[in-house]
Amino acid sequence: MLESAPPCFYFGAGCGRRAVTDKAGKSLCRACADRLPGYVEYPLQQPSAPPTSAEKEVKRQSERDYRQSEEYKAQARAYRQTEEYRQRARDRRRRDLADPAWRARHNESIRRSRAKAKTARGEVASS
Ligand SMILES: [Zn+2]
Repeated sequence: MLESAPPCFYFGAGCGRRAVTDKAGKSLCRACADRLPGYVEYPLQQPSAPPTSAEKEVKRQSERDYRQSEEYKAQARAYRQTEEYRQRARDRRRRDLADPAWRARHNESIRRSRAKAKTARGEVASS
């Protein structure tokens, strides 16, 4: 195990070991990786060298595996129930509404979908 290896994803959560593998979108030590069955493991990326495009693809695939998992979906569902998430959504909405460029895009997309619906009903869309 190299000293330059990144810390395990759960390092701060009491693990304290260094990562040896990449799994479920995380860099993990052996023990933590073994606690996450059902995922493909990928070679750990060394932070010393910039990642090659093949290594980046491996990382992306590892993250995709994780996002397909029930564990991830359950976490995402739980997060959407939190006050933090709701507050962020409200803040984002307020920021968006205050942005004239966003409002213009928003109005344009509403106009377009109404025109589309009209056309679908056989009416002549007014531009
Ligand atoms: Zn660990």
